[in-house]
Amino acid sequence: MAGLKFDYAPAPESRAIVDIKSSYGLFIGGEFVDSIDGRPFKTISPASEEVLADITEAGPRDVDRAVAAARSAFESTWSGMRPADRAKYLYRIARIVQERARELAVLESLDNGKPIRESRDVDIPLVAAHFFYYAGWADKLPYAGFGPDPRPLGVAGQVIPWNFPLLMLAWKIAPALAAGNTVVLKPAETTPLTALVFAEICQQAGLPPGVVNIVTGAGDTGRALVEHPGVDKVAFTGSTEVGRLIAKSVAGTDKKVTLELGGKAANIIFDDAPIDQAVEGIVNGIFFNQGHVCCAGSRLLVQESVYEDVLASLKRRLTTLRVGDPLDKNTDIGAINSAAQLARIKELSDVGEAEGAERWSPPCELPDRGFWFPPTLFTGVSQAHRIAREEIFGPVLSVLTFRTPDEAVEKANNTPYGLSAGVWTDKGSRILSIAAQLRAGVVWANTFNRFDPSSPFGGYKESGYGREGGRHGLEAYLDV
Ligand code: NAD
Repeated sequence: MAGLKFDYAPAPESRAIVDIKSSYGLFIGGEFVDSIDGRPFKTISPASEEVLADITEAGPRDVDRAVAAARSAFESTWSGMRPADRAKYLYRIARIVQERARELAVLESLDNGKPIRESRDVDIPLVAAHFFYYAGWADKLPYAGFGPDPRPLGVAGQVIPWNFPLLMLAWKIAPALAAGNTVVLKPAETTPLTALVFAEICQQAGLPPGVVNIVTGAGDTGRALVEHPGVDKVAFTGSTEVGRLIAKSVAGTDKKVTLELGGKAANIIFDDAPIDQAVEGIVNGIFFNQGHVCCAGSRLLVQESVYEDVLASLKRRLTTLRVGDPLDKNTDIGAINSAAQLARIKELSDVGEAEGAERWSPPCELPDRGFWFPPTLFTGVSQAHRIAREEIFGPVLSVLTFRTPDEAVEKANNTPYGLSAGVWTDKGSRILSIAAQLRAGVVWANTFNRFDPSSPFGGYKESGYGREGGRHGLEAYLDV
């Protein structure tokens, strides 16, 4: 009935499919082992603050043991294996990920706080797609454009963040293995569980011991890994701050490095854009995954002539977003990943208000327990405001305006970052012209936050260097 609002009935995904152990060791040399010099820490559900499991924070000797296992596997089996056989393992992993997709999606939502709709429909299908894609490259490396006989680098030390835990693992491990390297991977401290199930999947696939090693822990474990002299290649995704430390620590060594860091993307709406579609793109750009997305469209640039229309539609749309239980299939926005991240989002939003921007959120009831933040937008934002310059990494949108295409490009590029951007317009020629002028690794046209394993991804300036995904993603793991 028009005009009446109905509540949705709860539609919880069952968590019976996951079997979380009370404690986990480290995955080294093909088996779960106790730590030598580590200590336990807990991983919690950010939606309820319930403790999910005891996890091991690996110490330097644990990391040493993992790197030794990876070296031994590299020399004894993996680098010399027929490429078509390496491919078989990757295909097998991809298929097992598909078979266990529901379990992985529920576990990811529990540990990370993201809505099950996203982990089920985006994260896990993309994880399988990455393994399928790079499995296809394993026996075609001589045709990848890196010479007739490209060689692997050796042992890769890989450190990933908490926003797409299993997907970031796939981005790191699939190309490394396809190219003939072995890996030691450290997941983020707040989201270790799917990486540990991935370790089980490696066992299930019969992957030779030591090809994949998973060491859990926080910054100290990550530092021990990237500084380890036995590591030939460092691959890091995370904050620009830690990226800088890593760049310093590997300077002067012969380690190869790729850094995928932060972003502050502009999403540019021209006055000839289809407004309803653009509003969906704006919402997807900043509220997908609670805005915990490095390439999030966190700066909205709207052409002045359509500003009122866009803002009114956007506010209307935001009132329909459902914030709450990540395991409910109707939830659009889940929990913020940690108390620390929530504190940062609150702090920067308060700064936005203090600096004179106007804050707006739709009416929305937040759960009592757990870490929550309502979808929020700021208008009256100037380029000098901190909320227009710093990465908030939460569901907070800063709205700015422009009059001419040149002004849009100038404002979009006025950032220390350069990871992604979006352009919304009806004119193909304008898309091409604006995209060519934007200093961003990825430019989406009339869409946002689209990912595909065959598309390279990476940044300019403080967003890092190197590319992941596609044929370009192989280069980072080959001696070329
Ligand atoms: P973070 O830099 O704090 O942590 C990332 C990882 O690095 C974690 O596993 C952490 O334990 C580890 N770490 C911390 N200190 C370390 C050190 N000194 N040496 C080695 N490892 C260390 O970042 P975060 O808060 O987990 O993630 C959010 C950031 O990641 C955001 O800035 C976001 O933009 C970025 N990110 C970038 C991409 C991309 O592809 N460009 C993708 C996802 C996230």
